[in-house]
Amino acid sequence: MERSIVRPSGLDFETPGRRDYYVALEHDSIWGDHLIPLTVFVGARAMPGKGLVAFGSNHGNEYEGPMALRHVMDDMRLEDVAGRIILVPVLNVAAFKAGTRDSTLDDRVNLNRAFVDEAGKRPGLAGITHRIAAFVREAIWPHVHVVIDLHAGGQVARFAQCTSFHPIEDPVQGRLIEETARWFGTPLVITYQNETPGLLPSEAERLGKITIGTELGWGGSVQASGVRYGRHGVTAAAIHHGQLRGRVAKIGHHAAGTQQMAAMVERDCFTVAPFAGHYEQVRACGESVRAGDVIGLLHDFDRIDLAPWPARAGVDGIVIAQAWAAPVLQGQHIVVTGRLLAFQE
Ligand SMILES: [Zn+2]
Repeated sequence: MERSIVRPSGLDFETPGRRDYYVALEHDSIWGDHLIPLTVFVGARAMPGKGLVAFGSNHGNEYEGPMALRHVMDDMRLEDVAGRIILVPVLNVAAFKAGTRDSTLDDRVNLNRAFVDEAGKRPGLAGITHRIAAFVREAIWPHVHVVIDLHAGGQVARFAQCTSFHPIEDPVQGRLIEETARWFGTPLVITYQNETPGLLPSEAERLGKITIGTELGWGGSVQASGVRYGRHGVTAAAIHHGQLRGRVAKIGHHAAGTQQMAAMVERDCFTVAPFAGHYEQVRACGESVRAGDVIGLLHDFDRIDLAPWPARAGVDGIVIAQAWAAPVLQGQHIVVTGRLLAFQE
């Protein structure tokens, strides 16, 4: 199979068929391009503005997403595709090649903070990462109403595996998002604070799209369960939102009735490291806890005779995330707890 190399203007998301592309965005340093792999399936009943896009590697050291989408590329049969399905297993190729969260070998920008005004359009915001954001905005958003952004914790945090979204004002959109999120089968579904600027999912939500984020693993490794949840969740979303014919059964914690939902919205959910040190996990992610419970210990080996600082749960509920790498920065959110919520149905 030949993968055609095109500029964004050369992508065809309309003609029925399968097409495999490298989207070429100009390299900042050499005569050449960054090549973003993108596969599109278009069925006979594709509608203008309707479709599903799934991204892996928004952050370059999170690997379940790229692997899940690599499998989905093989799972999809063109004859089953009714609408439009766009798969981008490695969105931030610059960060993925560096094996880091941000595009450290290029402009050093975090793609999931790059969806800001004038990204890719003016000096200072014209590096590869901001131009990837501009590409998503201009070439992809107009063709999809379902957006899936597959993350894992990278080197920052370990997670109770989850799907995620922000609290949504529109009740219809909110309900569709929650249902879509549950079908991944993860133990946890979370809603999280929406104050961080420049996030890909925040922009998709603001545009009214059914938007799902995930945290499918951590530590730059690959969890088999995380790949399975991602692969299944994308397929289920494509079916339930009219882009793929077929049926799916519930999996994992969704099927078992053990899935939980939690909110990490209020500031108390985030326990902040008061000094740079080394973090020791005491309680596991996913455990039920009470506010004040000690979840981990922060050691200061420069003052080794001091007692370690207890990192406590901020709210009653569940441990959603905590520091992965032992060395942590002052100010880092080393423990995140969430309040349990009821599902809408
Ligand atoms: Zn991420």
